[in-house]
Amino acid sequence: MKLISGEYSRMWRNEFNMYVCIKDQIQNMNLVIGCTVGCPYCYARNNVRRYHMIDDFSKPEFFPGKLRLMEKERPQNFLLTGMSDLAGWKTEWREQVFAKMAENPQHQFLFLSKRPDLLDIDTDLENAWFGVTVTRKSELWRIDALRKNVRAKHYHVTFEPLFDDPGEVDFSGIDWVVIGTMTGPMSRKVRTSPEWVCSLTKQAHAQGARVFWKEDLAPIMGDDMIQELPDAYSRVLEEQRKWHK
Ligand code: SF4
Repeated sequence: MKLISGEYSRMWRNEFNMYVCIKDQIQNMNLVIGCTVGCPYCYARNNVRRYHMIDDFSKPEFFPGKLRLMEKERPQNFLLTGMSDLAGWKTEWREQVFAKMAENPQHQFLFLSKRPDLLDIDTDLENAWFGVTVTRKSELWRIDALRKNVRAKHYHVTFEPLFDDPGEVDFSGIDWVVIGTMTGPMSRKVRTSPEWVCSLTKQAHAQGARVFWKEDLAPIMGDDMIQELPDAYSRVLEEQRKWHK
């Protein structure tokens, strides 16, 4: 099902020319565990409880010992907020992490937040990507807050899980847009419409952003998935391939 005439030359495909899983492109590095946002569908909270990672998920904890993982020469794309929200990080934690990122330009580092109204960040780090999660139209303010409160080189937005039609979106300055739907037991109650996905994709392309449909959209959108990555992430993946040879 080809819904959009995207720029397929920019798509990242695996060796079987199939759509890919985002976790194979971007790995979690959970330097901070815990979050105060309290989303009802939070998988991180369930996993933290199941594996007893910390005592209280609503009280974020920093694990500076994991910073040495950044010293690996083999380049990787890392999500640093898989079990936290950047707005819940203490300033001193963030400063330690940013300093280590600056020492390791071989990697790219992504952050996500649902509370960009609480952020106040200035950085010229070339390998830092700041993003917000938007799940519905009423949360579009987060994109404006991100641009206002985080002065950085790169921005991204994740629409996941997408609960309604976000309508018209201002993607100015946004480099990368990720779209996904609900997975797991709650997926039966949420149906992301292909029209919403197509509308977001067309708007993002028209405003110069690249778009990545997460693998969980395949049953909704068909196999002809749009999975574009920023060049910096693609370069990391190309380098990784050389390490395997
Ligand atoms: S922001 Fe993320 S980590 Fe925090 S509760 Fe929501 S889903 Fe969980």
